[in-house]
Amino acid sequence: MSRHAIESETPWWLESGPETCQFCQHTFHYEAGYHCIHCDQPICPLCVMELEDSRDTVCPACRDEGAK
Ligand SMILES: [Zn+2]
Ligand SMILES: [Zn+2]
Repeated sequence: MSRHAIESETPWWLESGPETCQFCQHTFHYEAGYHCIHCDQPICPLCVMELEDSRDTVCPACRDEGAK
């Protein structure tokens, strides 16, 4: 009964999951991700942006648009 050591540095939520981030193409677990309040796209924890004033979670694309 030998166990392999954990070989990857990838956090659990970046292991293959049902959701694919449209911005970095990582797959992630739905529970660990976010949704953009504007376009409703799933966003991984690495790409999610939080608006400073409203604390809404948005995708990088929508944040860029809103920042103009
Ligand atoms: Zn991402
Ligand atoms: Zn968006």
